[in-house]
Amino acid sequence: MSSAAVTVTRRPSECGAQMMHLIEELYPICRSITGEGCRESLRLLQGIVPIEMHEIPSGTPVFDWTIPREWNIRDAYIKNGRGERIVDFGRSNLHVVNYSRPIHATMSLDELRPHLFSLPQHPDWIPYRTSYYSENWGFCLSDHVLQQLQEDAYEVCIDSSLTDGHLTYGELFLPGDTHEEVLFSCHVCHPSLCNDNLSGMAVASFLASRLRERPHRLSYRFLFVPGTIGSIAWLSRNESRVPAIRHGLVLSCVGDSGGFTYKRSRRGNAEIDRAVAHILKHSGKSFAITDFSPYGYDERQYCSPGFNLPVGRFSRTANGDYPEYHTSADNLDLVSETALEESLDQLLAIVNLLDKNKTYINTNPKCEPQLGRRGLYRAMGGTPDARPLELAMLWVLNLSDGEHSLLDIAERADLPFAEVSRAAELLSEKDLLQNKLAKTG
Ligand code: ZN
Repeated sequence: MSSAAVTVTRRPSECGAQMMHLIEELYPICRSITGEGCRESLRLLQGIVPIEMHEIPSGTPVFDWTIPREWNIRDAYIKNGRGERIVDFGRSNLHVVNYSRPIHATMSLDELRPHLFSLPQHPDWIPYRTSYYSENWGFCLSDHVLQQLQEDAYEVCIDSSLTDGHLTYGELFLPGDTHEEVLFSCHVCHPSLCNDNLSGMAVASFLASRLRERPHRLSYRFLFVPGTIGSIAWLSRNESRVPAIRHGLVLSCVGDSGGFTYKRSRRGNAEIDRAVAHILKHSGKSFAITDFSPYGYDERQYCSPGFNLPVGRFSRTANGDYPEYHTSADNLDLVSETALEESLDQLLAIVNLLDKNKTYINTNPKCEPQLGRRGLYRAMGGTPDARPLELAMLWVLNLSDGEHSLLDIAERADLPFAEVSRAAELLSEKDLLQNKLAKTG
């Protein structure tokens, strides 16, 4: 397969449309936790950023788990007695229970029925079901079609294979000035589902692409992994790298029109937890913050007690909180350019905060330095309110005693981090601030 025709423009306003275009290309591919669909998807993402593909052989132990056999599928259908395809994998890859073993047989409706799954509460939607770790087969279909089935001789075919092969995941490392890392992780194993999680794959790729264009202090690692088994495999193979991870986010469901949802890391008060809360609070967008729970996506692995990494989860409407979740209605209509772009913007602001959150020391701590003389303060006195940047400078000077980071100051002053960071830059230029690390190191 050729790589994506998508090229990343330098005009940020077009990123939303480009992310949407990428999602449209990824949408028809039948992905799973292993197999060609996963590889083809990663190759499309390589059209955005140079993701490295890794392959782990089936049977490889990864902590308490084992890399499963590789699943691939060519076709699947149920034909009625007249030879008509009443369920056809060619029309939606959700029709087959993901990881179904191969079968070709003729059977009665009673024999077939235990292998059929529908959603009576949403009779036009096809559910998404998987059977990764117990060998089985099945079909998912709209309840509308299921209710119309009559006694007949049904030809059932799933032309799949479960063979020794590999699990594939993608990784991109962007080295910064320091070895301290920020981890971004998204799952790449769902078939034709857009918000969960083509949105995460698209936003992660474009975030990486934007980070590649600019210098950064921290190093950034992006993982594109099949859910659960992929993050377990990565952690198992990279235990020595884990201590460098200082902050992390799992990205999922970032393309719908709902407000933002941040799920805290298991630590609950890590810098990433405070950083995301701060950015969302000053974003002007609606948002909710929830505590960690050992349920959800790959934060379950990163936050398992043996690692307890400062990794939270960034979403719009959280998984399970929207009716279209894990159904055929999580389609291209559920995600939008605007929502994808807003998610990317928030993540860029979070990255900017993490990258610039340093601790400074005021070089003139005995009374205020004279800012007006240095061109940092308005010449005319007597106006009733300080301008935000001036206020930020006063806060930064006051709290830069080597004990407070810029995020500490932004929180205490209730000012946007970007303003506080700008104030610190101006004061540093006039030698009124010194980086604490520079002084001690
Ligand atoms: Zn899911």
